[in-house]
Amino acid sequence: MRIAVAKEIEVCERRVALIPDVVARLVKQGLEVWVESGAGERSFFSDPAYEAAGATIISDSVKLWSEADILLKVSPPQEREDGRSEVDLLKEGAVLISFLNPLGNPLVAQQLANRKVTSLSMELIPRTTRAQSMDALSSQASLAGYKAVLIAAAALPKYFPMLTTAAGTIAPAKIFIMGAGVAGLQAIATARRLGAVVEAFDIRPAVKEEVQSLGAKFVEVKLEEETVAAGGYAKEISEASKQRTQEVVAEHIKNSDVVITTAQVPGKKAPRLVTEEMVAQMKPGSVIVDLAAEQGGNCACTEPGKDIVWNGVTIIGPINLPSSMPVHASQLYSKNLTSLIQLLINKEKALQVDFGDDIVDAACVTHAGEIRNQRVREALQ
Ligand code: NAD
Repeated sequence: MRIAVAKEIEVCERRVALIPDVVARLVKQGLEVWVESGAGERSFFSDPAYEAAGATIISDSVKLWSEADILLKVSPPQEREDGRSEVDLLKEGAVLISFLNPLGNPLVAQQLANRKVTSLSMELIPRTTRAQSMDALSSQASLAGYKAVLIAAAALPKYFPMLTTAAGTIAPAKIFIMGAGVAGLQAIATARRLGAVVEAFDIRPAVKEEVQSLGAKFVEVKLEEETVAAGGYAKEISEASKQRTQEVVAEHIKNSDVVITTAQVPGKKAPRLVTEEMVAQMKPGSVIVDLAAEQGGNCACTEPGKDIVWNGVTIIGPINLPSSMPVHASQLYSKNLTSLIQLLINKEKALQVDFGDDIVDAACVTHAGEIRNQRVREALQ
């Protein structure tokens, strides 16, 4: 069975689906691995390094796509420079594993179904204990949480830690993290390592202990309604609850030097947590890093992909932060992918898509000409 690693054509995508170390393990397992020439270039993995790991380097991308049994990618497939769609290059019955953004862009799913490709979306890997090693949302969110703090620290015209010097004492920076999921918790840990005083808020009360164990203060808002949906994710909350949370968080935002927002509700636009009025109350020189910029932003002033200054406050809306750390992002993503691949091959090293496996079943978007995922079907209507 042939596994192929495509070169990413998305301009801001620097990650690669498999790194050489992981290729070596698959080759040792008896699998054939093709890597498109230059696929690892932007993440500092060279063609010779892949060759040394046992991969075959393929410079003809059409050949690589059309002869793959399992095609691995990071960003969703798109139109190539020659006007052909990457999806149309795949052979019928091939498997594509990638981030597919199937709820945000269900048309790709339709294309994959038309092409009779079996596609697995890394966004749809269930957040269960058994699927932890395949959980690319978590591995990449953690990188984003870390990097968000470094970006904030670089933009803040102040120190993060408390310093006692001969020239006087410097008070530590106050950081407020909104949304304490995977990215938020990593942001808390990173800000604490840099010596900041950290507060965090989330509508899921269960995260209180995790926040406190990282040395941050949990800002609690008691809500009347259930805030947790299936799988441990947050639910969209009512207007009354939104208002209640805004009243509480406003004071914390006002007193913070840095606000990092990470709040998301799966399948929905990012919740609006920071209003213009709240930004207007912040001290000049303060910084907001909005990790939900691509999903509409948690802050009313965010412009995706831009750094803006609004009333003296710097508001940063980064896009694809994991890609800015392509070495470790690719390393972790490779591990996520290889764990998933193990579920798709049988003892004879042949492809076997078993929908009896709950992870394969949950992650599969299209198979045999059908869109299997109901939420994606609904998103198409
Ligand atoms: P996410 O990216 O969907 O959301 C980020 C955070 O935003 C979440 O903590 C969410 O509660 C919070 N949020 C949503 N609306 C909000 C609002 N209005 N105000 C404040 N905060 C808001 O979530 P994620 O980080 O990918 O994961 C969330 C949870 O999923 C985890 O904390 C965990 O419970 C579960 N999870 C489980 C596993 C596992 O069991 N293997 C792995 C990963 C995640």
